Amino acid sequence: MSKTAFVSTSIPYVNARPHIGFAFEIVQADTIARYLRLTGHDTFFITGTDENSLKNVRAARDEGITTRELCDRNSTAFQGLLGPLNISASDFIRTSSDVHVRGAQALWSRCRPEDIYRKHYTGLYCVGCEDFYTEKEAPNRICPSHGAALEIVEEENYFFRLSAYQDRLLELIESGRLRVVPVSRQNEMLAFIRGGLQDFSISRSRERAGDWGIHVPGDGSQVIYVWYDALANYVTSLDLRDGSERLNKYWLNCTRKIHVIGKDINRFHSIYWPAILLSAGLPTPETVFVHGFITINGQKISKSLGNVIDPLVQVERFGVDPVRYYLLRAISPFEDGDFSEERFRDVYNADLANNLGNLARRIETIGEKAHYAPPVWTTVLDAPEGYHAAMAEYRLNDALATLWDIATELNGRIEVAKPWELQKAGKDAALREFLDLAVSDLRCIAHWLSPFLPDTGDTLKEAFGNKELRRGDPLFPRLT
Ligand SMILES: [Zn+2]
Repeated sequence: MSKTAFVSTSIPYVNARPHIGFAFEIVQADTIARYLRLTGHDTFFITGTDENSLKNVRAARDEGITTRELCDRNSTAFQGLLGPLNISASDFIRTSSDVHVRGAQALWSRCRPEDIYRKHYTGLYCVGCEDFYTEKEAPNRICPSHGAALEIVEEENYFFRLSAYQDRLLELIESGRLRVVPVSRQNEMLAFIRGGLQDFSISRSRERAGDWGIHVPGDGSQVIYVWYDALANYVTSLDLRDGSERLNKYWLNCTRKIHVIGKDINRFHSIYWPAILLSAGLPTPETVFVHGFITINGQKISKSLGNVIDPLVQVERFGVDPVRYYLLRAISPFEDGDFSEERFRDVYNADLANNLGNLARRIETIGEKAHYAPPVWTTVLDAPEGYHAAMAEYRLNDALATLWDIATELNGRIEVAKPWELQKAGKDAALREFLDLAVSDLRCIAHWLSPFLPDTGDTLKEAFGNKELRRGDPLFPRLT
């Protein structure tokens, strides 16, 4: 394989346990990574945890444990999602790990010296966001996302000269060399850049950071701002040292570099991050894919509402592929989408149990009665019309729909052809012809479904492989 690709999720804070919103992102990224592999890309897929946050220091203090203990425990909970959700990650990066600490410092040192400067600073700071707000952005000095009072913070910090990158960032996005998907999110970024870019603080006093975080190279009084540090994970996961094989292969000489993120952190990924990379003389990403948020029964996910859905519980109850299917098909890849138990059951029964599951069962049953052995499967069947086009635009739900169109059509053909009557009438050639086509359709579904529902893809490949058809267990037993 000569083509390479890089796919990442954002790295969540570990101050709470993973909820369905992060499962959504990691399943989307996994599907993209698996699709790239299926289409011949040697793909590096990275996820991990963001641990150098003051929030973790505070959460640990509240629990009476050390920050390290809190990070270890909660990072383990995030890693624990990978198996049950069938995530094909190449590695898992923790920002408290040595390789990351070393890499984040190296990235800082690689930035052009004139892009990093010290400045005395007074600002309105939200601990929850770990970000500064202007008076205009935060009326009455209340955080617009947390509704909490902002702290006035005065200190000397290092700043990054983002203002020097305004034109290059505009050019990067306008030329399509950096794509922000969907285009509405790209337009937001273009408008923000055109509005004028301000330099931003990239360090905090070590004291205010609770003495937790990565030291600024050559200045022990400051730690690297958690956002700069977190963004660095994408390259530190590849080992940011000269001669690193991973870095060469999956970043320096790789055109398909895709970050999968939520809409609240687009600015960091589509503006700050490319600017840092330009300053460090490193290539910029190819695509920032921005998803919306999941609501639960129409409400924002929140601990206080008690509506946090644990993805592991869902997988335990329904199996991994039904959960992946719902996240990938029933929720728009770009807009906010809702998770409700009722809708989950409706989608499961309609699409999985009644359509694809029932279809596989029917063809197996007819085939078994006829002692039918399918033709040897030698070539990969072309994807249905529209599948690759949808994937190129990250319309994951539409790509899935093209496979379900085949299933629906084949279910209809069974009603018309009535293969059981062909069998009774002894019309063997016609029955065989019908089954050949049906198996070919199911093989096509199996192959192109595998990035989305890997287990189901494997089961179908096995069931409609080269041996006599056999009626197996139902793929998706109906939920009552
Ligand atoms: Zn806030």
